[in-house]
Amino acid sequence: MISTVHNDPGQALLERVPTHATGVVIVNLDRIASNWKALSDLVRPAECAAVVKADAYGLGAEHVIPALSAAGCATFFVATLDEAIQARTLAPSASIYMLDGIVKGAGEAVREARVIPVLSSLPEIEEWSALSQTRNDRLESALHVDTGLNRLGLAASEIQSLVTGQHLLDRLDVTLVLSHLACADDPGHPKNALQRDIFNQLAPLLPSTARSLAASDGLMLGKPFHYDLVRPGYALYGGQAFAGGTTPVEPVVAVYGKILQIRDVAPGQTVGYSATWTPQDASRIAVVGAGYADGLFRHLSRASENKVASPPAIPSPTPAYVAINGQTAPIVGRVSMDLLTIDVTNLQPAPEPGDLVELIGPNLSIEALGAASGTIGYEVLTNLRHRFHRVYVGAGG
Ligand SMILES: *Cc1c(COP(=O)(O)O)cnc(C)c1O
Repeated sequence: MISTVHNDPGQALLERVPTHATGVVIVNLDRIASNWKALSDLVRPAECAAVVKADAYGLGAEHVIPALSAAGCATFFVATLDEAIQARTLAPSASIYMLDGIVKGAGEAVREARVIPVLSSLPEIEEWSALSQTRNDRLESALHVDTGLNRLGLAASEIQSLVTGQHLLDRLDVTLVLSHLACADDPGHPKNALQRDIFNQLAPLLPSTARSLAASDGLMLGKPFHYDLVRPGYALYGGQAFAGGTTPVEPVVAVYGKILQIRDVAPGQTVGYSATWTPQDASRIAVVGAGYADGLFRHLSRASENKVASPPAIPSPTPAYVAINGQTAPIVGRVSMDLLTIDVTNLQPAPEPGDLVELIGPNLSIEALGAASGTIGYEVLTNLRHRFHRVYVGAGG
């Protein structure tokens, strides 16, 4: 249940939400900037970069990148070339790393974008090295070493073959060697130290002196995981990825949906598609203009289903609530494309059409919404859609 209660997004903010808006996503750019500064302080003398892939985790790279630049962030990580081209425009003098590396045949396009590919296979290194030679240049690149995640990254055997045939790397200006941790959210997991040991063996074989291992969770494992640069994404956006303590960041995102209608429902009636919920007693239901097309997972309604023939195949671990006027109200019935329904029978004062319902905010963290949706806060963020009105607070810096 929710203990702290405040449901006021702030009068000044509310005035920026058009009357006709069915919902609003509020992104606090000043908080993103202060979160970056807090993490920078935590990891100094290591550098704190910012991961802004996937449209800055759904929050709007076009706003987030300038805010972080103004705060002093000089290194950004994206996944794809399209994202890198956008980041290059938004942060003209920053270093921009592309985590997905060079998609086969795309080397020339990457070179033209003046961004740094993170290379994680021999064919990519060959393509980039050949381009370097053609251009009579030493193109910048990062090398991704696999230390046990078995996703992207050079295997130890590939590194061996690279260093025995040095010429490929001779043609490259390797600015960073990085690896990625599999279990850094769990400080007790033996894989953390194991991956660090492997990184310590493999990284020195490669030409760069700058190294990076930690993302949002890994940087909380302490100094031995910081190396020269840390790469947080989720924590910058207020996420708490690390299970072993509180990451020193503050929430960034709030999402409110508007009540469109209030209706009375008698026992025996059902609410929503597939008639999955029926009230025990006479109930008041508020219909909120927020649905899965706005990024609220349909899976949220699982826990409230009391009228299905067989129990839900994947039960929701946490009942789903929204917060309204400082109190909580359960989501009942199926979440549909544009609407969800909440039980407001016991709320005083009674909510009215036009009232805002908190879906993410001071009372409901992205992690709580993730758990109730059968997923993680990361997916809650990247799932936010652009139909709700967006309000950006501050300008970073
Ligand atoms: C996405 C990603 C990050 C950022 O992860 P967070 O958990 O959001 O901090 C860092 N490094 C790599 C390789 C990634 O793919």
